[in-house]
Amino acid sequence: MTSDAEPIVVLGGGLAGLTAAFDLHRAGRDVEVHEASDRFGGKIASSPVGDRLVDAGADAFLARVPQGKALCEQLGLTDQLTSPVAPVPAYLHRAGKLRPLPEATMLGVPTDLDALAASGTVSTEAVARAGLDLTLPATSTEGDISVGAYFRQRLGDEITERLLDPMIGGINASDIDRLSLQSASPQLAAAAGRHRSIIEGVRELRASLGAALGSGNSAPVFHGLTGGTASIIDALVDHLPTDRLHLTSPSLLPGTGPTVVATPAPAAAELLATVAPRTSALLAQIEYASVAQVTVELPTSAVDPVLDASGILFPRVDGMIITACTWFSTKWQHYARPDSVLLRMTSGRFGDRRALELDDETLTATLLGELQTVIDIADQPFAVRVHRWFDALPQYVPGHAQRVADIFTTLAEEAPHITLAGAAYRGIGIPATIQSGHDAAEVVLANG
Ligand SMILES: Cc1cc2nc3c(=O)[nH]c(=O)nc-3n(C[C@H](O)[C@H](O)[C@H](O)COP(=O)(O)OP(=O)(O)OC[C@H]3O[C@@H](n4cnc5c(N)ncnc54)[C@H](O)[C@@H]3O)c2cc1C
Repeated sequence: MTSDAEPIVVLGGGLAGLTAAFDLHRAGRDVEVHEASDRFGGKIASSPVGDRLVDAGADAFLARVPQGKALCEQLGLTDQLTSPVAPVPAYLHRAGKLRPLPEATMLGVPTDLDALAASGTVSTEAVARAGLDLTLPATSTEGDISVGAYFRQRLGDEITERLLDPMIGGINASDIDRLSLQSASPQLAAAAGRHRSIIEGVRELRASLGAALGSGNSAPVFHGLTGGTASIIDALVDHLPTDRLHLTSPSLLPGTGPTVVATPAPAAAELLATVAPRTSALLAQIEYASVAQVTVELPTSAVDPVLDASGILFPRVDGMIITACTWFSTKWQHYARPDSVLLRMTSGRFGDRRALELDDETLTATLLGELQTVIDIADQPFAVRVHRWFDALPQYVPGHAQRVADIFTTLAEEAPHITLAGAAYRGIGIPATIQSGHDAAEVVLANG
C-alpha cells in the first residue's frame, strides 16, 4: 500500500528519526529523511582507532528493555548481538585505589551492607549511615525529586556521591542534585514510591528482575554489536529507499504535511519557532551536557594491571576531569587482542566543561595522567582518537516528565500534523530512543 499523498517528512537522521522512518516505510508510507549533518546516526557513530572501527558514542544497550534487541532482530542483526564478558562489572575510584563495585547493587544502590563494607568503596561510617534507611520514615517523592536529594536523605552523602553519582550521574553526564529521579530512573522512583526503605525496594526490584541485574551473572545486562552500535544505523539506512534519504539537508521548516521532528530539543525549538511558538519555548528549556572522549590503544606490556572489568568509574566528588574509563578490550570479546589494550576515557558533565576547553593533546595527557593514579602506564599509546560530543545528553531535571507532557499537549494544539521523537523526552538510552521513533510513527499512522 503506497499513499498518493505528499511524503511524510522526518527531520533528523539519528536513531529516533531513522526508526520512525523505518516503521513508516514498512507500513507502506512514502517517507523522506532530512539530516542536517553529512552522516546518519547522530550520537551513534564509529570511527577508526588504529586499524579498527570503535564506537565513539553508545557501545551498549540494556538487555532487559526489549526494544534494542527487537529492532536488531527486525534488521537481521541477530548474529552480531553480543554481551560484555568482563568478570567484574566495574571498579570505582577511591583515594587512588580501585575498589570493585559491590555485586549486590543496582545503579549504585547497595542491597547488602556487609558486601558494601567489604568492597571498600565507602567508609565504615557511610555504611552505618546507609543502614538508617531501614528505619528512617519514608521520603516523599511526590512532585518529583532529584536523585541527589532523595538518596542523600535515604543513604547519606557519601554513598550518594561515591556510588549513585558515578552510576546514574555518569550515565546522564548530570549533576545528580538536579537530575530527576522519576525521569532518569523510573524503576528506582517506583521502588521509592512503593517502599519506605529504598534498600528494601531495590532488593525486591532485583529479585523481580532476576539475579543478573547489575551483577554480570548469567543473563546479560547489556547487549552490544560486534560491528558496533552503528550497525543498527547502517541497517536502518539500508532498509530505506536511497532517494528518500537526504544528508546535509538541515532546517527545513515543517510544511503542512505529516512531519516527525527527531532532532535534539534545541534544534526542534528552532524548527518549531514559527509554527508552534509555545511548544518551541518549552523545548528551549531542555538543557544539554557535553562530553569529550579519548580512546587509546596501548601495548599490553605497558599497562599494569590489565583490568578484569568493563571499566572504572570516577566519582565527581574526587574533582578529577575523567568520569569513566571503559576498558573496551576486556568488556567486549571482539576488541580483545593479546598485544594491546583498548580504553575509552570519558570526561564532561553538566556544569563541568573543563575537558571541552582543553586542546586534544592536553586533554589526552590529562586523562591519561588521571588514569595513571590507578593504572601504571609505562608507554605512549600507539593510537589515539579524541571525540567531542557537544550538547550530547539531554538533562532531565526534576519536573521533566511534566514538561514533556506539556510539550506534547501544546504541540498537538498548535501543530497537530507534527510529532516529536528522540532522546530529549522519555529516556536517553538506545531502547527508549527506539521506542520514541516507534511512538512517533504510530501517531503519524493513526492520524491517517
Ligand atoms: C557519548 C555518548 C555515549 C552514549 N552511550 C550510550 C550507551 O552506551 N547506551 C545507550 O543506550 N545510550 C547511550 N547514549 C545515548 C544514545 O546514544 C542517544 O541518546 C541516542 O542515540 C540519541 O538519538 P536521537 O535520534 O534522539 O538523537 P541524535 O542522535 O542527536 O540524532 C538527531 C539528529 O538530528 C540531526 N539534526 C539536528 N538539527 C537538525 C535539523 N535542523 N534538520 C535536520 N537534522 C537535524 C542531528 O545532526 C542528528 O543526526 C550515549 C550518548 C552519548 C552522547
